[in-house]
Amino acid sequence: MERTYNVFVDNGLFVAANILDKKVEDVTINDLKNNTKLFGEKVYKFTTSDRYKKISSMSFHNSAFDQPAYRTNRKEKIQEQFGVIMDNVGEDEYCCICGNKNIEFSKPENFLTKLNRAFIINCVADTFYNHSNNLSTVNICPVCILLGMLSTLNMRKSGYIVLFNSMNNDFMYGLTQRRENEFCQKQFNSSGVKGDNTLELQNEILDLIVKEKGKDSLKVYKVNNGKGEFYNEELLSAEYIQLLYEIYSEGLIYEFNQSGLFYNMLKGNLNRTYLYKLIDFEKCEIKYSKKLLIMLEGKLNKLNKSLNEIIQSICKKICKIGCKDCLIQLKNVSNYNKFVELILNWQESYSDKKQESLLKNQEEFDIITDRKNYYSIKNKIMFELILNKGVL
Ligand SMILES: [Zn+2]
Repeated sequence: MERTYNVFVDNGLFVAANILDKKVEDVTINDLKNNTKLFGEKVYKFTTSDRYKKISSMSFHNSAFDQPAYRTNRKEKIQEQFGVIMDNVGEDEYCCICGNKNIEFSKPENFLTKLNRAFIINCVADTFYNHSNNLSTVNICPVCILLGMLSTLNMRKSGYIVLFNSMNNDFMYGLTQRRENEFCQKQFNSSGVKGDNTLELQNEILDLIVKEKGKDSLKVYKVNNGKGEFYNEELLSAEYIQLLYEIYSEGLIYEFNQSGLFYNMLKGNLNRTYLYKLIDFEKCEIKYSKKLLIMLEGKLNKLNKSLNEIIQSICKKICKIGCKDCLIQLKNVSNYNKFVELILNWQESYSDKKQESLLKNQEEFDIITDRKNYYSIKNKIMFELILNKGVL
């Protein structure tokens, strides 16, 4: 079977492959048909365990996983539901997730009564919003529905349900195996303690990246398909993953976490925020270690050599005249024109005090006030000023 890159279907495919001890490409529709009882048993154990049972109501709210009426025969009902799904693979219509012709045109009565759109996670979930759009059916094939439901075994909770998807198959195999191991260990180790299954999302991601060595980008999904419906996806790009790995290798990951920059990384705005999180502008101090600041600046704000040299020379000069407010003045610059104005002010006060020019010539002035690099230049000057703060 091929991956669809739908987070639920993909995770379900890796879960099925793990249970069947096969490679994902070797899993067939017949494998799924022939093992609905086994899948049902695994899902039953997971969704009724003390540690993970909260997941069932946030994943497939109205399925056999969670319906109160099935309290006494839940395992059989889950197995029956999986069986009904796979008995209805047809060849009439294309599926809008996997693109295969696996859908039967006229669905039999028992399919419609035992399985409806409530079970198609986050495609057409059983919520008011989705029921009010008047769609009665959606072309999603039984294979994708079953795999989507199996993704439950890879779900964990961090406020909402958390799922990961990486282009890297090895990462996904590793993640799925890890989920199974966690379940087996915690099931027996918790010895009756009703554990809170909430995981610390950022620690989990860091641990996954370091241990599973995923070099490709990672998508992080947070969902709730229960009463308080929620859906969110964030992308950790391959560059960010590489950077995280390097931060970890330098022994700086704890500080990076403490500073709250992981959140900015997940939001995709690390480049615009790192200086503001690492510098206390009022006190003119570095909040965390100099090493972390230098590393992030080096990785996130690359400027060419001549520009760097000009900036370093200017900053040294400014520090010499003891401009205590320079850093905060620069931080408060809100647009390009104000930036140019500030450079001119610095130029004037420097030549007043030292009887020489801050910038050597017009060319240097043009380089340092390059409009398209304005933001990076501003950041680099703030960085150099704080590094030279001993003389500020
Ligand atoms: Zn499909």
